[in-house]
Amino acid sequence: MTRVRFAPSPTGYLHIGGARTALFNWLFARRTQGTFILRIEDTDEVRSTPDSVQAIFSSLSWLGLDWEEGPDPSGVGDRGGLGPYFQAKRAEQGMYKPFTDKLMAEGRAYDCYCTPEELEEMRRRAQLEKRPPRYDGRCRRVSEKQKKDFQAQGRRPVVRFKMPEEGVTEFEDLVHGKVSFENRLLYDFILVKASGFPTYNFACVVDDVEMKITHVIRGDDHISNTPLQIQLYGALKWEGKIPEFAHLSMILGPDGTRLSKRHGATSTLEYKNAGYLPEALRNYLALLGWSTPDSQQLFEWEELQQRFSFSGCQKSPATFDPQKLLWMNGEYLRKLSPEELLSRARSFLESESWARGLSNGMLLKAMTLEREKFKLLAEVPRLVDFFFKEVEYDPKAVEKVLKTSGTASVLKGLKVVLKGLTPFDEKGLENCIRAFSKSEGLKTGQVFHPVRVAVSGRTQGPSLFGMLEVLGKEKVLSRIDSALKFCSS
Ligand code: GLU
Repeated sequence: MTRVRFAPSPTGYLHIGGARTALFNWLFARRTQGTFILRIEDTDEVRSTPDSVQAIFSSLSWLGLDWEEGPDPSGVGDRGGLGPYFQAKRAEQGMYKPFTDKLMAEGRAYDCYCTPEELEEMRRRAQLEKRPPRYDGRCRRVSEKQKKDFQAQGRRPVVRFKMPEEGVTEFEDLVHGKVSFENRLLYDFILVKASGFPTYNFACVVDDVEMKITHVIRGDDHISNTPLQIQLYGALKWEGKIPEFAHLSMILGPDGTRLSKRHGATSTLEYKNAGYLPEALRNYLALLGWSTPDSQQLFEWEELQQRFSFSGCQKSPATFDPQKLLWMNGEYLRKLSPEELLSRARSFLESESWARGLSNGMLLKAMTLEREKFKLLAEVPRLVDFFFKEVEYDPKAVEKVLKTSGTASVLKGLKVVLKGLTPFDEKGLENCIRAFSKSEGLKTGQVFHPVRVAVSGRTQGPSLFGMLEVLGKEKVLSRIDSALKFCSS
């Protein structure tokens, strides 16, 4: 039975790269009928915040990546019996202590009393001598007397891992294949901070074992942590429990540098707020570092759950292309039924005063006319608002169309014809307006453009006759009157 975990550090919003990691874990769990676990790695006491934890919960819930084990977002209890699922709580309950004690007792860890100044000096010297700037292991050899002196000076030790100085640490990565590190290039990393809190590398290994994790799936920025963690498994004599590793390719922005704020939105919830559909973002994220042999682009959710595998994962970096994501979102929006589209757009319409209390019927009709154009839910209000609120005439449209000589007489003539038209439907409107153009000896454009601007205030919009039908006779006639005020006679 596979057990995977998504283990974010709650030090900010959930980054799009983190969402991709969560998705790949989730998909792998589904395909293998395994368990997806959420573990909050809040051992950074300074940077971890409750708001970030909430952002993780809401981003994952919005994306539909529910977890079988992990904290319950209600704040009451946990899902699953291997909690708590917050590392800070685990630390408070002393869950890492027995492992520190074991490593110390067996000589695989030691107290280090070096001050930040001493460490800085060590780094500087290493740089000067062109050596890797790593801890030189001097506290491995501290005598009991020295320890007492340090303690008397008020120094509080950290606990460091004693890294073997020879040999290699290797693993078979499910994405990268064989990965090998020379131990002499590794270092005595910190297991427990002076505050008594475990570091990421220590807590991660202990928890992965205790939570019976079978596969560690994470970004390849963690690949250099893996040999440290494998050494720790060895020192804790957990050889049989080392999970398999899959390090996912890095995500770059369109300019080839690591994806960051400079490239636009990187927070998952920003995509929600901008009007992306979770299913579109999920589909897009799935293709960041994974593909099928036939390069299929659009996947049903169930299909993705069946087809995802590490053999389709690439080693080389993936490029985040906002234009492709936007295109994909449009594709997904067009797949929704009109009713579904309206219900998804609701939250965006709610903030508009003109949309309050409107019947679904009218909104549905207006949205159906515009649906080919929607790429984002957030655009819905702006594209349909003129159906419902007072028309705002675009000054450019007024100048270009309404102020053209002859427009006033076109609109006045058309008003008379439209007044007598029943039923006021798309087909009837088309026949009527075309017949009017012909009888007046005008090109259709000389009539269509002025009517469009008169009733919508804009030069662009949905199909003219459908739009007039949805607006209805009364509004069309009164808007023609309003437009006539702008026309030069
Ligand atoms: N807390 C780590 C992070 O957010 C998780 C790394 C891991 O999955 O082991 O990057």
